[in-house]
Amino acid sequence: MGKVKESMHTAPCMFCGQMVQFMAKDLLGEEEAQELAAMHCSCAEALEYKKEKNRKENALKNVSKLFGEDAGEGKRVNDEIVEILMAAVKEIYTGGLAKVTLNLRGGVKASISQNAKGEINVERIETRKQKLTE
Ligand SMILES: [Zn+2]
Repeated sequence: MGKVKESMHTAPCMFCGQMVQFMAKDLLGEEEAQELAAMHCSCAEALEYKKEKNRKENALKNVSKLFGEDAGEGKRVNDEIVEILMAAVKEIYTGGLAKVTLNLRGGVKASISQNAKGEINVERIETRKQKLTE
């Protein structure tokens, strides 16, 4: 994998319009440049936006840790289910959904929800019942 070439850009913050300088890959669309400018701006809206974006990225990482490629042997569920969970995080982040619970095979539940503070919780609930019948 080669290193992506970067260069200095100047673009207005998408919230306050202040011109911001930042390093990024060579070719940027206008919207992309304004978003990156916001990521490097310190106005209140930009800070809030960064916080929200980090939340979403952390939630996506948590999905990967609990169910995806970072979950490890025996815990990893199939990619289609991970995709559904990732899609749920995005939908919760944009406000379309409040909570999603999936019942997976093998007594595992996946739950994604947003609390009152706006944080996104990703939970793995294992209900492994052991029953012996004589
Ligand atoms: Zn700004």
